This record gives sequence, C-alpha cells and structure tokens, in this order.
Amino acid sequence: MFTVPTADGADSPWPIFERLLLTHEELGELASMIDSEIRVAFLMRLGDWGKHGRMTLGMCCIPSVQGELKPLFVQLLEDTLGYFPDFLILLNADWWEEASPLQREILVFHEAMHAGQAKDKYGAPRFHRETGAPIPTIRGHDVEEFTPVVRRYGAWKSDLAEFLAAAAEAPNAPDNLTPTGPPVVTVGCQEEADDSSGPEEPQMTAESTNRGER
Ligand SMILES: [Zn+2]
Repeated sequence: MFTVPTADGADSPWPIFERLLLTHEELGELASMIDSEIRVAFLMRLGDWGKHGRMTLGMCCIPSVQGELKPLFVQLLEDTLGYFPDFLILLNADWWEEASPLQREILVFHEAMHAGQAKDKYGAPRFHRETGAPIPTIRGHDVEEFTPVVRRYGAWKSDLAEFLAAAAEAPNAPDNLTPTGPPVVTVGCQEEADDSSGPEEPQMTAESTNRGER
C-alpha cells in the first residue's frame, strides 16, 4: 500500500528534500532540473519490502509502464499525486517511522542522487529537442563491490578508494543506519533515458533491475 506524504508534515520527506536542494551542492543538477519544471514525487510504501532477505529502504524511478495499461498507469498516478512526475521516489514507510532525522535525511539524499539529467557522449546535459526540457535519467551508484573482496583486498580500484576516503572524511556519520534491522538495500530503477535523439518517449518499466542495489 502507498500513501502520499503531505507537503510540510513533520513526518514528510518534502521539507528534508527542499532543504537538501538548498544545502547540498551535489543536488545542483536536480535543483536546476526542477527549475526547468522537472517534477519529483514521493510515495511512502507500507508493508514488507525487500528482496534476497534484505530490506529495501527506497527507490528512485522514472515512472513508466509499457503497453496497453500505460494510459491507466498514467491516470492512476495523476489521480494519486495530482500530476505525473518525472522522478518518483518511493520510501519504506515502516523504516521511515523508526528512522532518526539524520537517517531520513541520508535516505532522501541518496534517492535524490539517483535523479540525474541525461548526458550526451561528450558529457553535455541533454534536453528534449522540441520542448527544451531536461531529459531525466537514473544515476547509478558510484561503487559496486562485495564486502568480502574489500575485506581481503581493501580499496583495490580508484572508485573504491574514493569511496572509502569519503567515508573516512564524513563529519556526521550515524553510528549505524539499521541498529536492529536486517541488511538494507536501496534501489535505483536503472531505466536510463533513451540515448537516441528525437522526442523522448517516457522510459518506463514498473520493474527495477539489480544494477542499483545496495
Ligand atoms: Zn541507490
């Protein structure tokens, strides 16, 4: 079951998100997309959520389904949210309820980092040819590695070294994200925007892939 968080409630991710857009320069690209009328939505997901024995904390998607049910999906989402979002961020409501303000902030930051703008092969941001709107894409995680590999060999690649250096520098790391729960995973729907030029069909699947798993 899903619920729509209020815009400014004490338990809403919205005030956190709005604050981070102003304070976290890493979200500058997203902030600029929002200025260009790219829309973000949050939904809280209640009930068990996870896979492979790991709890899913959140997910950032470019919402879409293919095929006959697409108009229905669009209508249901618009009816639920009041608009059709470019990025849909789902948060685990059960985890959220127990989480500290810092943990909530971290999760919102994490999911917002998945919301990026498509780039061309030269690294320049891409815009819709006709409307001029930024083309959304889901940014993957910076690091993917197994804990046992790192335990044996440490930061054996530059991305891992950067990652571990960042962890060592972090000024306000929480003691433990999930003191009592199972291992956690957050998922970015890795449905990348189409790289072909021309008008963009919204790129959508209702499924996430494993690529963005943590
Ligand atoms: Zn993620």
